[in-house]
Amino acid sequence: MEDHKRRNFLKLGLIGAVVGAIQPLKAGGLFTQSFETKIDGPLVVSTWNHGLAANSAAWEILSKGGKALDAVEKGVRVTEADVTNRSVGIGGMPDRDGHVTLDACIMDEESRCGAVGFLEGIDHPISVARAIMEKTQHVMLVGSGAKKFALEQGFGQIKTPIPPVKEEYKKWKKENQDLFKKPEINHENHDTIGLLALDIHGNLSGACTTSGWAYKLHGRLGDSPIIGAGLFVDNEIGAACATGLGEAIIRIAGSHTVVELMRHGHSPMDACRLAVERIISKHKDLTNLQCGFLAIDKNGNVGAYSVYNGFNYALKTNKEEKLVDAPFNRSW
Ligand code: ASP
Repeated sequence: MEDHKRRNFLKLGLIGAVVGAIQPLKAGGLFTQSFETKIDGPLVVSTWNHGLAANSAAWEILSKGGKALDAVEKGVRVTEADVTNRSVGIGGMPDRDGHVTLDACIMDEESRCGAVGFLEGIDHPISVARAIMEKTQHVMLVGSGAKKFALEQGFGQIKTPIPPVKEEYKKWKKENQDLFKKPEINHENHDTIGLLALDIHGNLSGACTTSGWAYKLHGRLGDSPIIGAGLFVDNEIGAACATGLGEAIIRIAGSHTVVELMRHGHSPMDACRLAVERIISKHKDLTNLQCGFLAIDKNGNVGAYSVYNGFNYALKTNKEEKLVDAPFNRSW
């Protein structure tokens, strides 16, 4: 064992040595691979600048040998509670009718998953998603049913939009009257947080939470609460999350596609790039079509890629904590 790795091992006091056997690809029969994965420390990555604070919160759990599932929930709750954040949680922007509707999903190492969509006036949608996963036989609840469930579970209520957002909305409404006559996508404001973690036990989990596109049509769900689109985790392979225009991400089942590409032997970076290229190939008009994917594999390799420049992610390990600019297909 290299010296620095040994130090990490001793500092943490535990190590997960996971013998992972990637199943043979039955359909394609491309290859069979069996390997040993040594996890010498945990890893957390998350989308955009706000990922730095979320990663720190997740790290409090991961660095003590805690579970990736607990870490991803704790991490994105920081972003959801940040009143200055206009694209996630309490400070989120409203839809075209002035309602802030929140979407979130979570997935763990056992492929358990929970999702909530079109949730209004409830604190911490990611924890509602986790409660759906753990306390019901369903994966997804939306709208008034999700709210009823959340209230029954004792979740707090929030008043949205918060005052500064309400002011911004009034101004926007006055200036964009024409948009009310046509159901077009408005391309202002996006920055979902997707957060992926690998814990010391070698297990993966992910969380994704957003207020969605600002001034979306009332009732719209994007990719973020949809397992396989905004987030996907397969503990044998890796995990991926998405940000950007949800409609485009849903069309290619984005995060699931990234994980499947990793299953077929692609690195996280290549898998994200190939998923972005697929999105590009399916859309004639790429004006304003920004999407980005972030992925980690079971070995702790990280990759990301976006349609346009500007997408970044935050990364934290035993050795470093940083923001990374993702590679991209084209410039604005
Ligand atoms: N993917 C989110 C949505 O479409 C928004 C974003 O990430 O920018 O709702």
